[in-house]
Amino acid sequence: MKTEIQPKYYVTTATCACGNSFETGSIKQNLRVEICSACHPHFTGKQKFIDAGGRVDKFKKKYGI
Ligand SMILES: [Zn+2]
Repeated sequence: MKTEIQPKYYVTTATCACGNSFETGSIKQNLRVEICSACHPHFTGKQKFIDAGGRVDKFKKKYGI
């Protein structure tokens, strides 16, 4: 018999720096990420937002989020 040695895998809500949140699987709960499919340059064609605060708010207003 094998012993269970793998960490428990949660389905948790990851919150991105852009304000988007999505469900994902992780061994941690309450995950924070800096980039996601909603703001990734590959999907948006724009530069990654690395500034905390202001710029994200402007971005949200611009797109009416
Ligand atoms: Zn994002």
